[in-house]
Amino acid sequence: MIEANPNVAAMDAYALPDTSAAAGLEPIVLAQNEHAYPPSASVREAVNAALGRAQLYSDSECRDLRAAIAEVHDLDTANIVCAAGSMELMSGLMLAFLSPPQRVLMTQFGYLYMRTLARLVGVAVDSAPEPERRVDVDAILATLKPDTRLVFVVNPGNPCGSVIHNDEIRRLRRALPEDVILLVDEAYAEFVDEDFHAPLFDLVEGGNTVVTRTFSKIYGLAGLRVGWGYFPDGIRDQLRKVLNPGSVSSLSQVAATAAMRDRAGADEARDLIAAQRNYLTRVLTDLGLDVMPSQTNFILVDFSSEARADDAFEFLRARRLVMRPMKGYGLPGCLRITIGTPEQMQLTAESLAAWVGERGRR
Ligand code: PMP
Repeated sequence: MIEANPNVAAMDAYALPDTSAAAGLEPIVLAQNEHAYPPSASVREAVNAALGRAQLYSDSECRDLRAAIAEVHDLDTANIVCAAGSMELMSGLMLAFLSPPQRVLMTQFGYLYMRTLARLVGVAVDSAPEPERRVDVDAILATLKPDTRLVFVVNPGNPCGSVIHNDEIRRLRRALPEDVILLVDEAYAEFVDEDFHAPLFDLVEGGNTVVTRTFSKIYGLAGLRVGWGYFPDGIRDQLRKVLNPGSVSSLSQVAATAAMRDRAGADEARDLIAAQRNYLTRVLTDLGLDVMPSQTNFILVDFSSEARADDAFEFLRARRLVMRPMKGYGLPGCLRITIGTPEQMQLTAESLAAWVGERGRR
């Protein structure tokens, strides 16, 4: 019998949802917080042109892409690292910086992939409560242990969609010991009202904070797998040793570069998603459903019991709509709904109205 690394043998594979609809139906998948629309013409043109050079390895430095990100966000190019999704950046950070007996501290509803990574490197995870389904800095500080090496905060949060003010993240940083890495996962930051959420990138200059973002959400390139982050020199240098130097394909790089440069496209996407999110939130709330206010491209609907959530899930699935059950997050009475096109949102609203009509209000 061939033995695996004991950490790997003991861990569960990261669970992705079953996105099939009822038999014979083409599913409308609203389970993975993907973007509602396909890539723009400028992105497609860039990818088509780059196909003619696909016999060559991609630029391991992602120079054009990092230059575009630096320009748009007014950052130092040297401190930007790109990888195959922010998942790869998270996994690289864990491999480069965590080993037992160090510990990771995350929040109650923080992104579950971090737990998989902690198992991989054999470190324990502490979980700070999220009262009212919102990251709470005091709760994080109360959960901190002497061996805590990395604190992981997702803001805006997934699956709750709640956001805390970046002043709170700054307060957290000031209160954490200097040798603790603070990783702020901002996968959904571009959906947030800018006035409310001034960027955090300057914190990186302190040497122990990392901010990650992704092209999978507002830029609509989830299938091309591009994430990026802003890293202090010391963290960047170690991280780069463990990342696969060719992990961002040439097509992904040109697509992400074009998407980053298309500021009007990103603004339009934010507005379209916000309009549909507000529409669905209003309609479902009027139906008597409990919807958590969200600043992202998804909403969390609380059906108040696991049985009702399961029933709503199957009812929607029979109408092709595939939502994300939340049992893995300890929210068995909830479903998470990705914001889609107006047609998809109308179908969702009508289907849930039919469900409420048939099953009755709470
Ligand atoms: N962080 C959060 C909070 C996410 O929801 C996701 C994707 N669902 C990711 C990170 C990973 O994104 P990427 O596609 O960049 O790996």
